[in-house]
Amino acid sequence: MDKFQLIHNKKDCISCGACAAIAPEFWYLDETGLAHVKDSHAVNDHWEKEIQTEAEKAQHEEAAAVCPVNIIKVEKKG
Ligand code: SF4
Repeated sequence: MDKFQLIHNKKDCISCGACAAIAPEFWYLDETGLAHVKDSHAVNDHWEKEIQTEAEKAQHEEAAAVCPVNIIKVEKKG
């Protein structure tokens, strides 16, 4: 598959929990109450994760669709 990456603008998270509810395999609320993606890493002012499978991509796209402040993106790399 083409390479995709997840972008999460965590600093703008409002802790609604929708992403963790719809995609709990990857998303959870961390100890500060903000959403976090397993195995993601901080890059400048946001968090990123390389997407490994089509199934994972679908999960992040579902999370993006339900995020009320639109801070989850799935972007094609390269
Ligand atoms: S859906 Fe968006 S605002 Fe809600 S917890 Fe997840 S990242 Fe934060």
